[in-house]
Amino acid sequence: MDDKIARSISVLIYQKIGARMRSSNYSSEVRQGFAFWFENYNRSNGPIFSIRPSGLKRHIVSLKFGAYAAPCIEHIRAHATPEAYLLANALVAQLEQNYDVKINGSDITNCVVSLDFRLQVIRSYVNQHDSTHIRKTAELIMIPMIAAIAELIGYEDLTMPVNETIIEGVLSQSLIRKRERNPRNRLLCLSIHGELCDTCGLDPKAIYGSELGSILEVHHIEPLSEAKSPKAYDPKTDLIPLCPNCHRAIHKRKPAFTPIEMKELLEKS
Ligand SMILES: [Zn+2]
Ligand SMILES: [Zn+2]
Repeated sequence: MDDKIARSISVLIYQKIGARMRSSNYSSEVRQGFAFWFENYNRSNGPIFSIRPSGLKRHIVSLKFGAYAAPCIEHIRAHATPEAYLLANALVAQLEQNYDVKINGSDITNCVVSLDFRLQVIRSYVNQHDSTHIRKTAELIMIPMIAAIAELIGYEDLTMPVNETIIEGVLSQSLIRKRERNPRNRLLCLSIHGELCDTCGLDPKAIYGSELGSILEVHHIEPLSEAKSPKAYDPKTDLIPLCPNCHRAIHKRKPAFTPIEMKELLEKS
């Protein structure tokens, strides 16, 4: 394993979820592997994510907090919103569908994160030292894990504070746009719904190849304004992937067309 792989994984993390990470390899140690941490925390002050080989054909991906991460945990306890926990949980739940996820210590699902919190996921049947496999493990497992924690930390908020006032029952356009642009929501949305446009079925990878990364956008289905009691936000059902054309089209009306209306429009034309 070498430094190039770690750097290419850092680039991938930034592309997928907008988080800037630093990395190191453990190559001087017996058990080789890579560690990643947020650029704005140093290694011992925040969460540490790692990928290391285990047994013959496994990668172990884990998250733990550094020895001096107490202020980071305090920050999460004081600032993580219910919506951040919701999204973090949804990302972990999505991992649990495909892998054996071990959570030790406290539990995100109980909205508690503490210094002894550990998350560990094993990916089996890999070629341990093959860079393509390591990258794939990062993409499938470590990136959603980082996304969950980035959400709890309020990652963007650290660089550009957004003041959001949510009037009960009314979902502001800026909140909707914020959710649509949140790269962690995007990751979750694409992993749940797949990488096809929900209304026209466009498969960007089939047209442009997979080199570019996905051009799909996230659309937040607006709750009906006449609904008596607005339902709680659920990223699993409220977000859908749309191609840029359909996304523009769906917002041509205010409030936006519903996905069903869009499909009807497409069928008519
Ligand atoms: Zn489309
Ligand atoms: Zn939209």
